[in-house]
Amino acid sequence: MRTAFSLFLCLLFSYLLTAQPKPIPQTKADAWKKEVMNAVDAKAKDAQVMVDMVFSFAELGFQETETSAYLIKILEQNGFTIERGVSGMPTAWIAKWGNGKPYIALGSDVDCIPKASQKPGVAYKSPIVEDAPGHGEGHNSGLPLVILAAIEVKKIMEREKLPGTLMIWPGIAEELVGSKAWYIRDGLFKNVDACIFTHVGNNLGVSWGDAGNNGLVSVEFQFEGSSAHSAGAPWRGKSALDAVELMNIGWNYKREHLKPTQRSHYVVTDGGDQPNVVPSKAAVWYYFRERTYEDIKSMYEDGIRIANGAAMMTNTTVKHRLLGTAWPGHFNKSIAEAMYKNIKTVGLPTWSNDDQALARAVQKLVSAPKKDQRGNVIDGLAVKLDTLNGPVQFSWGSGSDDIADIAWNVPTVVLRYPSNIPGTPGHNWADGIAMATPIAHKGVVNGSKVVASTLIDMLTNPKIITDAWDYHNNVQTKDVKYIPFLEKNTPPATFLNTKIMEQFRPQLKKYYYDPSKYNTYLEQLGITYPTLEKKD
Ligand SMILES: [Zn+2]
Repeated sequence: MRTAFSLFLCLLFSYLLTAQPKPIPQTKADAWKKEVMNAVDAKAKDAQVMVDMVFSFAELGFQETETSAYLIKILEQNGFTIERGVSGMPTAWIAKWGNGKPYIALGSDVDCIPKASQKPGVAYKSPIVEDAPGHGEGHNSGLPLVILAAIEVKKIMEREKLPGTLMIWPGIAEELVGSKAWYIRDGLFKNVDACIFTHVGNNLGVSWGDAGNNGLVSVEFQFEGSSAHSAGAPWRGKSALDAVELMNIGWNYKREHLKPTQRSHYVVTDGGDQPNVVPSKAAVWYYFRERTYEDIKSMYEDGIRIANGAAMMTNTTVKHRLLGTAWPGHFNKSIAEAMYKNIKTVGLPTWSNDDQALARAVQKLVSAPKKDQRGNVIDGLAVKLDTLNGPVQFSWGSGSDDIADIAWNVPTVVLRYPSNIPGTPGHNWADGIAMATPIAHKGVVNGSKVVASTLIDMLTNPKIITDAWDYHNNVQTKDVKYIPFLEKNTPPATFLNTKIMEQFRPQLKKYYYDPSKYNTYLEQLGITYPTLEKKD
């Protein structure tokens, strides 16, 4: 009898260990999706407050202290457990809630752009603080979107006792491609089954396969020579600045012999102190971008060789350090397909005449092209949904995002949501104009509905994640294996932007959004929405 009972326990135990969660009937899942979409709609006010608040912080990469503290507080109040300072980055963190599988990561970037400070809702250049950083990329909107979705899905998971873990994480210093490869190296995603990432755009869309963009390495070359009196004894000096200039000349000759898909650009981060002292130290910071790992690596090696050549010509020495890296983007098919169904259900926001008027005025202001690169007419805000796009057939190269490093390790998609105006130049003050207006708020709410309903899909239909790994293992990484550019001990470049934020934070602080006093940030700044022309 006793043996039979232990056998029964043993069988029961092994059943529990191997049992797959039963798929939940579609009708039930559909009802929860409807419920969660209504719940997100009802929280539109929360979305506006979060979006406006992060907009007002305007923090550059690695300096996202206010943004992180603010978002962490909201997540803690909603039952998430926070791990701070992950991957050696003071502003990075991971928020977790739930138990067991599926284990789903939800992320977005949070940093802003140098010299992009701009008042929202006005169709002319008007910085909040002259020369200060600002959200000229729209990274103030993505995490609010994700947080709103996660909080509402969590309520359903709790009530229905659905197993699953939600992990929310910020893309720190995305403009420096400075965090995500480090997260992968440090094992932050090792238990994750799938990742939903969001990025501001001007339509509601998702794609899968090769995204057509470039990966990169971000490298600073530091030259050292010796100083001398520039007039009294210039023959005794070894100019590190000469080395920087010669390296740039060398690289600009090299361009002719690179593939047309490359992008490379540099800024001089140290050009010496004053003209009468031969610069003993100088530095130049390059981004080397290409479409494949091999081509990025080859540019990286060319860069080092040219730097060594410049050092030899000037009798200086050179060392280099890796500050950031990203792989070319490739995204998951199964999750993208599930997400696209939800995109069709949610649709684009209903734009008001004011929203459209602002968009057209901004397009005029920035001399927007008549059509985008895919041939869509640019005229006001998007009113027709993007199609679901698969792998690009051809690309002549483009920007980068280190979300790719996550996507090469865990099935990942990027939801683009319509919080910005089509036809803006990107990384520009004009890209901030929409980002604390009803355009951004509506785009975030619709994006949040898509994320929330896709989460319900993943929690109720295990096949989406099984298929996602099948694509990941048997298609995406079948021939291309992820090789990181990071070494085991490459530190994150957390020192970047420290001085700029120290300079501007005291002034920016005066303009932090106060939702206890003002309904919106536009109201706080005294802006009539929309203001289409500058009044003298
Ligand atoms: Zn971005």
